[in-house]
Amino acid sequence: MGVAGNRQPQDRPEAGPADDFTEAPADLLVIGGGINGSGIARDAAGRGLKVVLCEKDDLAQHTSSASTKLIHGGLRYLEHYDFLLVRHSLQEREVLLRSAPHIIWPLRFLLPHHRHLRPRWLIRLGLFIYDHLGGRELLPASRGVDLRRHAAGAVLKPVFTHAFEYSDCWVQDARLVVLNARDACDRGATVLTRTRCNALQRHGSYWLATLQDCRTGNTLRLRARGVVNAAGPWVDQVLRYDESAASEHRVRLIKGSHIVVNKLFDHPYPYIFQHRDGRVMFAIPYERDYTLLGTTDVEIHGDPQAVAIESEEIDYICTAVSEYFRKPVVPQDVVWSYAGVRPLFDDASQNASKVTRDYVLQLDDSAAPIVSIFGGKITTYRKLAEQVVDMLQPTLGFAAPAWTAGATLPGGAIENADFDAFQSDCRKRFPWLDADVLLDYARNYGSEIDRLLQGRGAMAELGTHFGGGLYECELQYLVEHEWAESAEDVLWRRTKKGLHARADTRQRVSEWLKQRGLGATARGVSQAGA
Ligand SMILES: Cc1cc2nc3c(=O)[nH]c(=O)nc-3n(C[C@H](O)[C@H](O)[C@H](O)COP(=O)(O)OP(=O)(O)OC[C@H]3O[C@@H](n4cnc5c(N)ncnc54)[C@H](O)[C@@H]3O)c2cc1C
Repeated sequence: MGVAGNRQPQDRPEAGPADDFTEAPADLLVIGGGINGSGIARDAAGRGLKVVLCEKDDLAQHTSSASTKLIHGGLRYLEHYDFLLVRHSLQEREVLLRSAPHIIWPLRFLLPHHRHLRPRWLIRLGLFIYDHLGGRELLPASRGVDLRRHAAGAVLKPVFTHAFEYSDCWVQDARLVVLNARDACDRGATVLTRTRCNALQRHGSYWLATLQDCRTGNTLRLRARGVVNAAGPWVDQVLRYDESAASEHRVRLIKGSHIVVNKLFDHPYPYIFQHRDGRVMFAIPYERDYTLLGTTDVEIHGDPQAVAIESEEIDYICTAVSEYFRKPVVPQDVVWSYAGVRPLFDDASQNASKVTRDYVLQLDDSAAPIVSIFGGKITTYRKLAEQVVDMLQPTLGFAAPAWTAGATLPGGAIENADFDAFQSDCRKRFPWLDADVLLDYARNYGSEIDRLLQGRGAMAELGTHFGGGLYECELQYLVEHEWAESAEDVLWRRTKKGLHARADTRQRVSEWLKQRGLGATARGVSQAGA
């Protein structure tokens, strides 16, 4: 696969003025290794373009690892009349599910009816629209349930007797980003992590970009025929690099936080609770032993680099879910938390939770084009990527059509997208593998499990156990194939083993990486334990 051939900036030729370059220019420079940048790099590389992706931190280090992790139509957006967004999102659910059935899976959500909030007929109507707006083949329709008889009723206050059950999907968000980058790389893209784009200048039909390796400080100048600004919360900052790329649009930064508590219930149904302020709150089974609760909408005006949850947000989430659970959730229950910044398109809404979650693409169609991305959701990233590459087609002059709708991501080659059958097959092929480890590898690596376990035939051959279910063979794989360089990359983004780890796991992983020349200078972490 392509990661081994992935060049670091210091390997590339330094160069002077734009016309001194000996190397042919890249077709496309993508700035930002969140879900949108990685998805665009994959789409463009698959259409034969020479692509360079630069990410200033780790892949998915910012918004794209801090989501609620749902591939969903967004029931709530129907109330804002965002029908087109809901339709496109619903259509994407099954496309994405088929592309990566190991890291994306269906869930049945329960929406308890609250007598003093939205009326039953309104919810029923909303779910009817939700069921029919985007087409469904794999996911079952919604239905009403009696909570006095349903497994999910027992932990709720007895006043909640009726609920609605409907389908959406779960996604391992940070892994989705990495798999898109992997596929881009396998198709010939150069992926430069911990490499910041510091400057961009238009020179006739080329862009001249200055990239800096954040580990060493080395700089590299690179020519590209087109640029995609997928810098998420930093999209305005990148647009300011060159005055010829002035923007008519602005980004609006809305922070959202989540808390994780020890598991509140023992069944597989996530809840979606209505809150008195009109927002909704999720309570989702998480990482086997936990429940994920969130989220919030807080407008920010400062630096999006290292946002963190505030105590008011913790109180808000606890109060909202305690309206429903028999046993109240209190701030002392929090075992971990994370916060991220939604880079939304500024549609001048008064209320932060009402700002549209749809995306706007801005094309500056000069001889050297630049496309900037405002807003969006993980759910719509593939479609967004397709549109961005289509937009660049006339100027960059390539013929290849869109291709990602029917393609799988690395690890997604699972027959009929049937994960249960795949897991049983893995059990037969790796009978020596501990059942929990097998499920973990099947879920996170899918059909790549063969590469992960290549040459191993007994538990002892997985190597050192670092705690939290992390064995040396997985660590090795993440370094060789998924750009992992620091303990945080491994424990909080490529996996969530940080939640299950022992006190010394982080230290031991860091030492292992350091012995291999990695991680020593890798920069900060945006997701610290609560
Ligand atoms: C609380 C919350 C909950 C959410 N829940 C959901 C959900 O359940 N489902 C859903 O579909 N969506 C959800 N979203 C939305 C979704 O997470 C975002 O739309 C998406 O992750 C944005 O991706 P991005 O690639 O645009 O931004 P990012 O992930 O932030 O990526 C941008 C990247 O650009 C890099 N960068 C910036 N400047 C430079 C530079 N100069 N040089 C190099 N790199 C640079 C940054 O380091 C960053 O990694 C949620 C968002 C939040 C905050």
